[in-house]
Amino acid sequence: MSARPLSILVVAPALGPLGSGKAGGVELTLLSVVSGLLERGHRLTVAAAEGSSLPPSCQGAALLLEPGAPQESCQHAPRASDVWMPAQGLLPRLWQRALQEPIDVVLNLGYDWLPFWLTPLVEVPVFHLVSMGSVNQVMDAAIAELARWDQRRLAFHTASQAADFDLPQPPVVVGNGFDLADYSLCLEPDPLLGWVGRVAPEKGLEDAAAAAAQVGQTLAVWGLVEDPGYAERVEASVAPGTLDWRGFLPTAALQAELGRCRALLNTPKWNEAYGNVVVEAMACGVPVVAYRRGGPGELVQPGLNGWLVEPDQPSALADALERVDQIDRRQCRQWVEEQASKAVLAERLEQWLQAGLLRKER
Ligand code: UDP
Repeated sequence: MSARPLSILVVAPALGPLGSGKAGGVELTLLSVVSGLLERGHRLTVAAAEGSSLPPSCQGAALLLEPGAPQESCQHAPRASDVWMPAQGLLPRLWQRALQEPIDVVLNLGYDWLPFWLTPLVEVPVFHLVSMGSVNQVMDAAIAELARWDQRRLAFHTASQAADFDLPQPPVVVGNGFDLADYSLCLEPDPLLGWVGRVAPEKGLEDAAAAAAQVGQTLAVWGLVEDPGYAERVEASVAPGTLDWRGFLPTAALQAELGRCRALLNTPKWNEAYGNVVVEAMACGVPVVAYRRGGPGELVQPGLNGWLVEPDQPSALADALERVDQIDRRQCRQWVEEQASKAVLAERLEQWLQAGLLRKER
């Protein structure tokens, strides 16, 4: 139980309903944040797109649903793109609603210009858990500006992510958190490799496919196909049967299949803010072979829960796969229990919010 229970309103990304997979890893993060903070005795409300629902672990939270057109995620547009607002946009509706609620704190999980911009202008304290690294120059400026005003309102998932931004102070890094009850440890894997993520170029599936082809093992692929043309190009880049496309599964089904893998390959081309799927695999006992880059470069502890290799080198991934059987699958799970449970995350978030609510020293 925390020192002072807070009334916290969490604003979901304005990309689509929770449960659709449209917001990528942020959807799972939101559920961990909400259920973890509920367990610490706080009062939670979630503002999200119409069509969203919350699982039993979050049932103690009130849900405010708003209609409206979703935002386009800025991660697929050029860095120099303007920020756009659709007609009848969901984002302003969510924020209009959020700012009218009688609460202590608003916690933003969306990566949009509007909430960063309005933070210094409103009475209610708005905090931001930044979900991506730098992908757009308008967002870079908004985050830097807010950091100059009061950096205590910002938290990041990893130090590598935070290093993308122009911050006057050392960043608050909270990692991420997972409900370990949702993941079962599997000690006897099949001769199968796994890859999980949105199927989009920044996730680098082609490199994992090339490594799987080199070692002659099937690569099971789970995730939302965001870019069908890209998926076709990756499929065509390796021999038929190398990739086993399994689609987007809810967590319970995903972890049951993922746990059967010998190893997870994680091959992002961008500065991945965290890498939920890396930790989800470890929670099932699956060692991770990843590029030494971004969040996964901080999560994978070589020799303990996986191996890190030089970025963008599929043959280095293939070499590391020869060594995955040296990893004790129990240690992968244990690392998650110690470093990335939802209880650990909730405690870090609570400290961040409580510190940010103290009067600002001028
Ligand atoms: N995911 C899922 N089912 C799938 C594939 C992926 O629920 O079949 C979820 C996964 O649990 C993770 C998210 O999609 O939470 C991907 O998050 P990550 O942080 O790896 O990347 P992002 O998509 O946010 O860039």
